[in-house]
Amino acid sequence: MTVEATKHFRQECSTTQPHQHLPRLNEFVGKVMSSTRQQNYAGPLLFFDKSRLLDNYRHFRTVLPHIDIHYAVKCLPDKDVLKTLFKAGSRFEIASKGELALLLSMGVNPQQILYSNPIKSPAYIHYAAQQGVEWYAIDSLDELHKIAAIKADAKLYLRIHTSNKGSLWPLEGKFGAHQNDIEEILITASTRNINLLGVTFHVGSQCLNPDNWRKGIISAKHVFVQMEKLGLKPQLLNIGGGFPVNISKNSPSIEEIANIINQEIKNLSPDISVVAEPGRYLVASAGCLVCRVVGTATRSGQRWLYLDSGVYTGLMEMAKGFPYPIVSERKGLFSDWNIAGPTCDSIDVCRKKAQLPSDLHSDDFIYILSAGAYTVCCASNFNGFKKPKLVFLDNIPKAIEI
Ligand code: PLP
Repeated sequence: MTVEATKHFRQECSTTQPHQHLPRLNEFVGKVMSSTRQQNYAGPLLFFDKSRLLDNYRHFRTVLPHIDIHYAVKCLPDKDVLKTLFKAGSRFEIASKGELALLLSMGVNPQQILYSNPIKSPAYIHYAAQQGVEWYAIDSLDELHKIAAIKADAKLYLRIHTSNKGSLWPLEGKFGAHQNDIEEILITASTRNINLLGVTFHVGSQCLNPDNWRKGIISAKHVFVQMEKLGLKPQLLNIGGGFPVNISKNSPSIEEIANIINQEIKNLSPDISVVAEPGRYLVASAGCLVCRVVGTATRSGQRWLYLDSGVYTGLMEMAKGFPYPIVSERKGLFSDWNIAGPTCDSIDVCRKKAQLPSDLHSDDFIYILSAGAYTVCCASNFNGFKKPKLVFLDNIPKAIEI
């Protein structure tokens, strides 16, 4: 990275990036910048550093030593990423037949896969049952009956509602049984001899409020007591995902979150295994999305920056306020830019009033940090634009086919 770029990196990131990460991030972005220059750029690229992925995995294990990791495949469902985690000892969480097929093709043991999507089609349940998947999430009586009719010996875990307050990407509302639904589900499982064996919750993605985990675990413990009273035998506490990537001043550290979780699970019965389904925490900081300025415009005094990546092509979360740090190699003073994607759709606006160098120009590269999660997999070819191509930093081909 040039001295100027580093300065801009510091300026842009000083508001959003804790300082202790700067040297390592500098090195990472520097590598990405030089790799980008060596390419015959033909469209957005997601540079991915597997060693960072492994560091994140190992760190999670260290701070939460009693918790088994089931990586949430949806976050970045790439075979090399999955293989890296599999080799390191990770288990997996899936949402669909496609994700399951991908894992099975790598030789993952279906008994170590959690099917945590609370609503699954009968066809997908049949497929999972045939392949040997044992564990399935439910959050309603309808799903309990649907699964029991297809796989009577399925092991079920109940997704309960929990607070998503303070999460940048809340998931509550669409999923999660409420207190008044829970009793009926437990009674039905107990009277019909259905293996309802666990409880799960999701605090919301990029959760900045560690108290959500405390509340979720306390609620799960109440449900375990209810289960035992009905003769059900709890075996699983699944604390879901939501662990944040550290990109803003108000991001709690993984240590802070782990202290709360470790405290709350201390007095659980030894019959209950505890698992988590991190997605973003493992992959986000290992990815840097490189895109290019397509054009600039001034409208009513406001400067607009149009990139070849936008809401439809990888930056969906930026449009919802996700504070990705953004870096460029320009030297101008910072000014306000409205950042938009390349498509003709008016919802393709990613960030208003972003502070970036005033002299940005068509064809400049833009580097979006901590972009490993929910970017490539959420991109489409809408309007004929290219999805970001995943490139591994330890194995960069001379020419990248897009
Ligand atoms: N588990 C389930 C059931 C999810 O729906 C998700 C994300 O939507 C995750 C885990 C991963 O969440 P995160 O990427 O916030 O860790």
